[in-house]
Amino acid sequence: MSLESKIVIIGAGHAGGTAAATLREYGHRGAICIVGDEPYLPYQRPPLSKAFLKGSADTASLFLKNAAFYAENDIEVRTEQSVASIDRSARRVTLAGGDVLPYDFLVLATGARARQLPVPGANLGNILSLRGIDDAERLKKALQPGCRVAIVGGGYIGLEVAASARALGLEVTIIEREARLLARVASEPLARFFERIHQQHGVRILCNAHMSHFEGDRDVSAVCLEDGQRIACDVALVGVGAQPRDELARGAGLHCENGVAVDLDARTSDPAIFAIGDLSWRPMPVYGERMVRLESVPNATEQARQLACAVVGKPRPAVEVPWFWSDQYEVKLQIAGLPFDADRQVVRGSPEQGRFAVFHLHGNRVVTVEAAGSPLDFIAGKQFILNRTEVSPEKLADVSVKAKDAVLAVRA
Ligand code: FAD
Repeated sequence: MSLESKIVIIGAGHAGGTAAATLREYGHRGAICIVGDEPYLPYQRPPLSKAFLKGSADTASLFLKNAAFYAENDIEVRTEQSVASIDRSARRVTLAGGDVLPYDFLVLATGARARQLPVPGANLGNILSLRGIDDAERLKKALQPGCRVAIVGGGYIGLEVAASARALGLEVTIIEREARLLARVASEPLARFFERIHQQHGVRILCNAHMSHFEGDRDVSAVCLEDGQRIACDVALVGVGAQPRDELARGAGLHCENGVAVDLDARTSDPAIFAIGDLSWRPMPVYGERMVRLESVPNATEQARQLACAVVGKPRPAVEVPWFWSDQYEVKLQIAGLPFDADRQVVRGSPEQGRFAVFHLHGNRVVTVEAAGSPLDFIAGKQFILNRTEVSPEKLADVSVKAKDAVLAVRA
């Protein structure tokens, strides 16, 4: 029955596209229909702030699979169509255009939307955010030679756009409300490292900068701060986080917290409905009973595998350690784990030389590793987290010892 079930996937993004492909890979034979409100086949977003913005990747290169793949695998992709409501008792969804699609299993993969800034002037032209291809096209068009770019928000998207805009030779100012960059998502040593790298590349960074409003006639001409500072600009990018697109789930009465609550099979409070990707509020077994909402590609693909296994009756996939990456200038950052209960940080290597890692420990256990230009530290840290290995902080800090060998000696 499960192999023949009719599946509707809402959202043609990274999670939705991967779910459809994985279901077929695992032998699912029933109908699969992906409904996406964008005019594109399922695509990857990471290059939007990086290669795509710099002009070194085109739209076709973003697609997870080409049109032939969906045709050959009998996966229907309905683009530019949005699901308006879910009728759980009748097991069907209604599209905004009126079409009704019945399902045996429904997959919610509606992702997240860029958070807006509710400040005066926010409707002026050339104030942009970055979530999808169309946003990236608008931003690319706005980043004309000689223009001044103000980036509100010093998180990953803001920093990646700053690096890309500098690569295009533009003047860039980052406006961050907190005392440092990456305040919600990275450690102090890592944030300081990126601050220095960006400054070396000519980015102006303002921290503790509280924005009051945007100024301009038709298009934005300045970002104004509460202390009276005025940052003149031709383009403003707002990168202040994202919110789960969970209205459909809430409307259908599914249990939601910070996103749609799911179990280890990515199943929601309705056994016929799954929720995956940025939208979901999910368990993270390497950290016990914790629930988290993550915005990363590995999270989307892991949950796609979880639901595919549950639908076709395969054993649940092995527990994974959450991870994430970011590329800025020549630096490749890789982060594994989440800093739950961390009580100590060990810095290994040299931030000055751009090759180092920050290990976050709880007791002698690694809970997170942030590795800049040091992939071996990332791999070792990820294994330590997965295996709950007890490590020696002293050995971890000693670069003459390989990170993977920094295990605490077991007493006889
Ligand atoms: P999405 O990819 O956002 O897909 C959701 C889709 O559902 C969207 O197309 C949306 O329009 C559609 N949708 C929503 N509601 C409806 C509806 N009612 N009907 C029909 N369709 C609907 N992650 C990393 O790990 N590393 C990176 O370097 C990285 N860089 C990033 C850079 C940028 C600029 C962005 C925006 C994200 C980046 N991410 C990165 C995060 C990563 O792209 C996301 O975690 C991933 O896309 C999540 O996949 P998703 O399918 O849950 O959501």
